Amino acid sequence: MAQRLTGADGVSKKTSRVRVAVRLRPYMSRQDEKDEGPCVRGLDSQNLEIINWRNATETVKYHFDVFHGEQTTQQEVFLSSVKPILPHILNGQNASVFAYGPTGAGKTHTMLGTAEQPGVIPRAVREVFNLVSAKDEDEGWDYSIGMSYLEIYNEKVLDLLSPNSQDLPIRENKDKNILIPGLTYTVLSSFSDFDKHFIPATLNRTTASTKLNQRSSRSHAILLIKVVRTQRALPHRQQTGKLYLVDLAGSEDNRRTGNQGIRLKESGAINLSLFTLSKVVDALNSGTAARIPYRDSKLTRLLQDSLGGSAHSVMITNIAPEYRYYFDTFSALNFAAKSKLIVNKPFTRETVAVPVLPVKRSREEHEAGGSGA
Ligand code: ADP
Ligand code: MG
Repeated sequence: MAQRLTGADGVSKKTSRVRVAVRLRPYMSRQDEKDEGPCVRGLDSQNLEIINWRNATETVKYHFDVFHGEQTTQQEVFLSSVKPILPHILNGQNASVFAYGPTGAGKTHTMLGTAEQPGVIPRAVREVFNLVSAKDEDEGWDYSIGMSYLEIYNEKVLDLLSPNSQDLPIRENKDKNILIPGLTYTVLSSFSDFDKHFIPATLNRTTASTKLNQRSSRSHAILLIKVVRTQRALPHRQQTGKLYLVDLAGSEDNRRTGNQGIRLKESGAINLSLFTLSKVVDALNSGTAARIPYRDSKLTRLLQDSLGGSAHSVMITNIAPEYRYYFDTFSALNFAAKSKLIVNKPFTRETVAVPVLPVKRSREEHEAGGSGA
């Protein structure tokens, strides 16, 4: 069934854009890779450039809603890309935050982070509790916060709060809300209550992943935080706001890594969901497509009521500076940005020719880039 920008009543529906942020992680790996210099660098808070592989004397320049350079902290990413959308879910609106990008580029770091550097998920959940407790009693609503946690793997929907569950169906009710009958929903009384359910489920998923060929990089991990508010007075109106926090499967092209058999089948399924997501985001952001193909994959079907329409959505595209990520970075940027500009300005040559303070070079280069454009 076609999902049209113009409703059955002929009235044009407001379809909001997906905001796109790009986050470049710092060098992680070997010194020799660092000595090659980065293949991508930031220009300012919205623009970056990457070497053009067709012609190394050129770079390709991209514009995004936000560019987060390698020095950006977890707190800064949260404040600029996620915190502003959270108040909406207390008013019965939906929101979604995705981390997109190749395996190793920082998606899990961005979403989950570590105990020392917590990512978007713990910060957002904490903030939702804060927002709810700051609500004025006099407004007359009671709030309840709850969670579900699932994984889409091979186009199967699996409940991460109920191990060994079977593939669950995705349904739509008469109000066009998407739901998953049978999915565990846990009401949360506090942030530590959230941790108590979330941490073991995440650990289970990671342990399974090492046995099953890095399954975690091949599946979409989807955390749902729901805020239900009920009016104290009659007629006890109720509103539900949903927040999806999604650590997507790696965007690398699995055809190039020589996968066969089961791995190849997985790649096909991953590509279907990610490929459909890219079509959906493209259709939403270009505003020209008559049909938004939500139904073409499980991921987009599940997110249908929380991506586009009246929902607030942010995609954080994670990229890595090393040359071995070049093609994956290039394709991730092309997915995230629909316009680009070819610029005649080599920057690798300069890096190689001027090896001043090689240990600190990438940072200096980044800063030098940051003052330009
Ligand atoms: P992905 O989930 O995309 O496969 P990870 O989040 O696991 O990637 O990141 C790969 C490695 O890089 C991890 O060791 C992670 O801790 C590290 N990393 C990623 N982003 C950053 C960052 N912004 N700052 C510091 N370390 C990072
Ligand atoms: Mg990961």
